[in-house]
Amino acid sequence: VIAQGQPEHSVITTCAYCGVGCSFKAEMQGDRVVRMVPLKDGGANEGHSCVKGRFAWGYATHKDRMTKPMIRERVTDPWREVSWDEAIAYSARQFKDIQRRHGRGAIGGITSSRCTNEEVYAVQKMIRAAFGNNNVDTCARVCHSPTGYGLKQTFGTSAGTQDFKSVAKADVILLIGANPTDGHPVFASRLKKRLRQGAQLLVVDPRRIDLVRGPHVRAAAHLPLRPGTNVAMINALAHVIVTEGLVDQPFVKERCDPRDFIRWENFIADLRHAPETVEAVTGVPAEDVRRAARLYAGAANGAIYYGLGVTEHSQGSTMVMAMANLAMATGNIGRDGVGVNPLRGQNNVQGSCDMGSFPHEFTGYRHVSDEATRRLFEIDWGIGLDGEPGLRIPNMFDAAIEGSFKGLFVQGEDIAQSDPNTHHVSAALEALELLVVQDLFLNETATFAHVFLPGTSFLEKDGTFTNAERRINRVRPVMAPRSGKQEWQVVSELAGALGYPMSWPNAAGIMDEIARLTPTFQGVSFAKLDRLGSVQWPCNEASPEGTPIMHRDGFVRGKGRFMITEFVPTEERASRFFPLILTTGRILSQYNVGAQTRRTDNVQWHPEDLLEIHPHDAEERGIRDGDSVSLASRVGATSLRAVISERMPQGVVYTTFHHPITGANVVTTDYSDWATNCPEYKVTAVQVTRSNHP
Ligand code: SF4
Repeated sequence: VIAQGQPEHSVITTCAYCGVGCSFKAEMQGDRVVRMVPLKDGGANEGHSCVKGRFAWGYATHKDRMTKPMIRERVTDPWREVSWDEAIAYSARQFKDIQRRHGRGAIGGITSSRCTNEEVYAVQKMIRAAFGNNNVDTCARVCHSPTGYGLKQTFGTSAGTQDFKSVAKADVILLIGANPTDGHPVFASRLKKRLRQGAQLLVVDPRRIDLVRGPHVRAAAHLPLRPGTNVAMINALAHVIVTEGLVDQPFVKERCDPRDFIRWENFIADLRHAPETVEAVTGVPAEDVRRAARLYAGAANGAIYYGLGVTEHSQGSTMVMAMANLAMATGNIGRDGVGVNPLRGQNNVQGSCDMGSFPHEFTGYRHVSDEATRRLFEIDWGIGLDGEPGLRIPNMFDAAIEGSFKGLFVQGEDIAQSDPNTHHVSAALEALELLVVQDLFLNETATFAHVFLPGTSFLEKDGTFTNAERRINRVRPVMAPRSGKQEWQVVSELAGALGYPMSWPNAAGIMDEIARLTPTFQGVSFAKLDRLGSVQWPCNEASPEGTPIMHRDGFVRGKGRFMITEFVPTEERASRFFPLILTTGRILSQYNVGAQTRRTDNVQWHPEDLLEIHPHDAEERGIRDGDSVSLASRVGATSLRAVISERMPQGVVYTTFHHPITGANVVTTDYSDWATNCPEYKVTAVQVTRSNHP
């Protein structure tokens, strides 16, 4: 797979793994990659990379890659290789037939955060214009949808506030529900560098992650809260700030809505939020909370960074708003070294959200019910559009099981492995009359598919990814698509077969359309990206070269809005039968469902998912290190190997979800965030027992 020797030419492109979005020079011999070299002037990585970006790209030419379209009438039939024309005509015919029999809303699609902005845009346009409904959702639904909601409510825009560089100016860093060493390694390096220079770190996480006490770093405080109690914890931090007179009054007076602030101040000052009261809920000593609050509020620059440990909860959106409250109350917004910063999971989570793939929003987060916005798209696209929001992913699953939703297009996402409550997802996929999967591999979801459309790896794609700091990076092809077509071309042809022709000369033409219709992308073009390397949106007349730091002089929504963030305990509770709480995450060498990392020889990948368990919990169950254990929740069970670890607090266990055989999502429930339906992956009541078999 890997050519050896001297490169003949090189192409600058972007890593397709995490939301850091590192730039690389792909050194090539013909159309074979010799090596991936991190780009010194890469906007996000400045010459750094992690093991995945540098070495784990062999999956692109792995023998499992599917390169031919395939059809089967029933999922029990064998796959039949067909021409592109036949696959597209068949899919269109079936989708139209379903709509004729069951109505326009009986079909929909899911976009992928692995794909480029241009590919995502093409799918959402096909669904809105050719399917004629808003039944489009993105896999960001299951990770950072609460970020989009929470930051829009408080600041006015659905994105993080800073560039990565900004962390070099932070004096106190509040890290909540994120493990950048494993999840966002290149950002973790920047953060550690700043810690070595003297910045202080506060970690809010049930696990004792490496950054709490690792090589050359030691957190000033670790608040190991019980899973599911984030909002109680952040309200306690805010309570200290308000009641000890640590609010930045001039900032609040100048930049925030005074009525909302007073309402919030009264709410948060109530004794029910005092650390001494909350201690019983979170399990964190009140004095540690008081000390952490004083450190954050007293910093010249206090920055919040967070991950899925914030969003994947029944109160994910509340928690995002609560962090925004904290930053506004302390004046930590609008300059270097501060802000509220999501560490996005996948390479293009930000972009897939920006590109209008939520069922209620066009590109740039504008509601489909807004007449003026809809009219803009109707004129440009030459077709009437639906003003009613469509179905979210969990609603699609429910409707499929109930019988009103019959056809689904899935772009590059393995929902059968990645989404919670696998049995429920499988039942929904089984109930579909037509499932069209566009992907690199015959993944778990394709088990239920009727049409398989081969996709393109990042080494074949032409387009852009947008990283966690809103940086739009170019993705340039280093080899021709193995299937013969770019993914957006396939989608355009499918839309045409459905009766709505979509034609672009190339990916640059799609970006031109996005820029024409999206105020925050107005100044973006491939020519500008080629000239500048990358730009951070908003990029428009006001900021022609992009915006590294947002909300400098005022919030996008005008005045910052404090929101009431009452703590509501999750429905998922430990019980006599399920006395432990499971929380999930990922490790450095693997990536999400492992579709890519499990298919690369370049990296020493972790061969199985493991269950981390506290020594006391293990002893109570007679479990020794390395034992095979059964992990069961009220929705399902699986088995995996135990690792006894003092990183875990007592009562909490942890695993990853990289391997389909383990299938950790067999046990996760379908509880979800109240505002966005982001699943509550981080809190599942479970029982762990030693298996009889080795
Ligand atoms: Fe790729 Fe993320 Fe690693 Fe950078 S930090 S090389 S974007 S996986």
